[in-house]
Amino acid sequence: MNNPRKKKGRREAADASLCPCGSGLALSACCGRWLSGGTSPLGAPDPLSLMRSRYAAYVLGDDAYVLATWAPETRPRDLFAPGEPRPKWMSLKILESGTAPDGRAGEVEFLAIARTPQGALRMRERSRFRREPDGRWVYVDGDQLDP
Ligand SMILES: [Zn+2]
Repeated sequence: MNNPRKKKGRREAADASLCPCGSGLALSACCGRWLSGGTSPLGAPDPLSLMRSRYAAYVLGDDAYVLATWAPETRPRDLFAPGEPRPKWMSLKILESGTAPDGRAGEVEFLAIARTPQGALRMRERSRFRREPDGRWVYVDGDQLDP
């Protein structure tokens, strides 16, 4: 029996997986838009969106996105050494964020919590972001703070 309504419901349920950044929004309506394969790849419109989407990319293993949104002069060749265990990121809390008045730079301070083979990891960082001439935001570097 044809039941289009039920089918639609299942598809919506699949789209509604929550974004790992903790926004409470569906991935497809949040950071998923900017990630590899999203509807607007690399389109994060401000430092806060970029920060959240980079965190989501770490959770989801979208290494290509993390590297593509890293300033060329500070970008590592690889995120992880071969065989290096990856932290299991559990939560992200944004403590502060802002964009400079000229709209070309911004900062985000966050606390991220992960599980590692060595135990819990609390990472507090004040990250710096820059807007490239083509309009894309990139992560430049950050200061590690006392969590
Ligand atoms: Zn998100």
